[in-house]
Amino acid sequence: MLKVKILGTATAVPRWKQSRTAFLLERDNKQFLVDCGSRRILYKTNPLSLSKIFISHLHADHIQYLGLLILKLFFTHLFRAKPVEIYCLRGHKKYLQHYIRIFTPAIKLKFVEFIELDIKNIGTVFQNNGMEVSAARATHAHPTLCYSFKFPEGKVMFASDTCANNRNIIKIAKNSDYLIHECVFRSSFPKQYSKRGHSTTRGAGLDARLSHSKNLIITHYNINRFKDRKKMVAEIRDEYDGKIIIADDMLTFSIP
Ligand SMILES: [Zn+2]
Ligand SMILES: [Zn+2]
Repeated sequence: MLKVKILGTATAVPRWKQSRTAFLLERDNKQFLVDCGSRRILYKTNPLSLSKIFISHLHADHIQYLGLLILKLFFTHLFRAKPVEIYCLRGHKKYLQHYIRIFTPAIKLKFVEFIELDIKNIGTVFQNNGMEVSAARATHAHPTLCYSFKFPEGKVMFASDTCANNRNIIKIAKNSDYLIHECVFRSSFPKQYSKRGHSTTRGAGLDARLSHSKNLIITHYNINRFKDRKKMVAEIRDEYDGKIIIADDMLTFSIP
């Protein structure tokens, strides 16, 4: 069974009821993290089960708690069979290493291994034991990857942060059981702003429709901007007929 937890749903600024982006996948006593923007990664990960961390990009709302998490792993690292693997875009490793060092001075980081990814459009990140991870370059203000996870149980795609209608993302999201998609702007937001690296309600719906995803989960949204969730769903519904879920922090689901 594959279990997915959306640890945080906020945009760049955390709010009382929203921490920022992090997704946790659990399967066969192993844990996989996508992004580290939520403080919950410190409490919801098991240091001995955490196997891989996939970083989308270097904005603080996606990496802020990575340093503290590595400090937490240090205290049990002697019991680990293998280092924790951190996947990131080529060129991002040096920034992440500097950031981790602030939290772990004078500690040998032998229990951390970086894997830098050369992905211009689409690429396979990892493939083993029935698990296949792919990544696509997003349309965002900073070089960014979006990751899809395929297991025998099903497929989950994490599309944050990105503008909608990105050909690479739609391709690797194809036939997802769950497309977890960001949504920063309302449909009515002027196009010149929404082109700056985030999606609208309608854009998230468009990606779900074009990728033939069975379920669409909305995350990375401002709870104050979208107080009327019925309106939010109606805007997405203009593009997408499938099931729409607006995530709250700690939304958890299983496949099958
Ligand atoms: Zn973000
Ligand atoms: Zn960002």
